[in-house]
Amino acid sequence: MITIVGTGAGGGLLARELAKNGIEVTIFEKGPYIDSKDAYNYYNQYAPDIDLLATTCIGGSTIVSMANMVRALDEELHEFGIDLTAEYEYVENLVGVHELDDSHIGKGTQLFLDAASELGLEVSKMPKAIREDECIQCGKCAFGCPVDAKWTAKDFVDEAVEAGATLISDAEVMDIIFCNLKACGVRYAKDDEIKVHKTDKVVLCAGAIDSAIILKNSGIADAGRELFFDPFVSVGGYLKDINFNTEVQMAGLVVGKNFVLAPHFSSFIKGNIPYGDVEDKDILSIMVKTPDECKGYVHTDGYVRKTNTINDIRYLAEGVATAGFILQKAGVDPKTIGSTVYRGAHPGGTAAIGKVVDKNLETEIDNLFVCDASVLPISPGKPPILTILALSKRLADYLSKK
Ligand SMILES: Cc1cc2nc3c(=O)[nH]c(=O)nc-3n(C[C@H](O)[C@H](O)[C@H](O)COP(=O)(O)OP(=O)(O)OC[C@H]3O[C@@H](n4cnc5c(N)ncnc54)[C@H](O)[C@@H]3O)c2cc1C
Repeated sequence: MITIVGTGAGGGLLARELAKNGIEVTIFEKGPYIDSKDAYNYYNQYAPDIDLLATTCIGGSTIVSMANMVRALDEELHEFGIDLTAEYEYVENLVGVHELDDSHIGKGTQLFLDAASELGLEVSKMPKAIREDECIQCGKCAFGCPVDAKWTAKDFVDEAVEAGATLISDAEVMDIIFCNLKACGVRYAKDDEIKVHKTDKVVLCAGAIDSAIILKNSGIADAGRELFFDPFVSVGGYLKDINFNTEVQMAGLVVGKNFVLAPHFSSFIKGNIPYGDVEDKDILSIMVKTPDECKGYVHTDGYVRKTNTINDIRYLAEGVATAGFILQKAGVDPKTIGSTVYRGAHPGGTAAIGKVVDKNLETEIDNLFVCDASVLPISPGKPPILTILALSKRLADYLSKK
């Protein structure tokens, strides 16, 4: 019997694979089962001085993701003896990774692709897990898809339940129960009661912040001592009637040495564009995302602290400068360019492979595993879902053979 805590990128796939392999699975999820279109109501607040995006509901943060799917950290994982080649092929096929059809590349995205190409940058369409025949091109991926046209981990949770898994939602796992120094259950809060669930193995997939809290509460002091979050800003300016805000977002990609760029509209940018009463439809903007050093800390009460290093700021500056050139080439008046605040949407590294878990994602406590963004050894500086899915498939195969 295996207990999975959390239903996001790591937990969803693990539950699906184990349940389909005939293993008895119980899934705990802190949040509720919701319609994807309502996901924007389930964003978390970690601390007043950090803008870190993640959601609490079935599907975890995948429910508000842009469905961007790229391979990451190949070399770094190889150093730990982890080769995900076969797992990547499996999960790419499962979630339907592909470049969007031209019918779903909007005018603003095409300007981004053309301008970056003219500047000699390495540019391509972004690999996505979006079904074009269902997508209504509304630009609302980060709010939760109104028509369920993108893959989310909720799909896998549904499949796991169909295959016999038990789902306990609105249940917050607090810590691990031990028998003879081995993990043998979880303590959780549901309906204002504290309950105990006994099991053979526990896999924490509660995301980088919450898995770290559960580990710390269970005596693993090294968890949560490091944290990356792949910082980003969106920079943009005035381009009359471009209507970019209703396009499929982040459908193009520029890969730089220390950053990635993707066309991205943020509802927070308007107030920062120095051009009179600019409207959303008149803004073309680009997300600049960088890898950051693992300088941060997760406290047991959920408070998150993140500091930025000199390199973090330098990488961001390089990316913003390049985005500015692309915007100008695309026709944006450079005098109107502004930026959102500095945010992060990929928390990870709090229970890193080689530090808190081994190459099979097991902690120092027998039968206690972690399988989510916590285990990534360094910041990928690019979308991590595909890598988490591949690690999850690898763990599912390992646990199925045990
Ligand atoms: C707006 C936005 C857009 C993004 N777009 C992309 C993208 O396009 N591509 C990409 O690769 N990445 C994207 N990301 C990042 C990606 O969603 C995350 O990196 C990924 O989902 C992390 O997976 P995870 O399994 O670590 O955690 P999550 O997916 O966050 O799942 C953790 C789950 O655990 C649950 N949980 C937490 N605490 C407990 C507890 N105590 N007990 C029980 N359950 C608990 C949570 O409710 C949640 O369901 C985006 C993120 C955001 C916020």
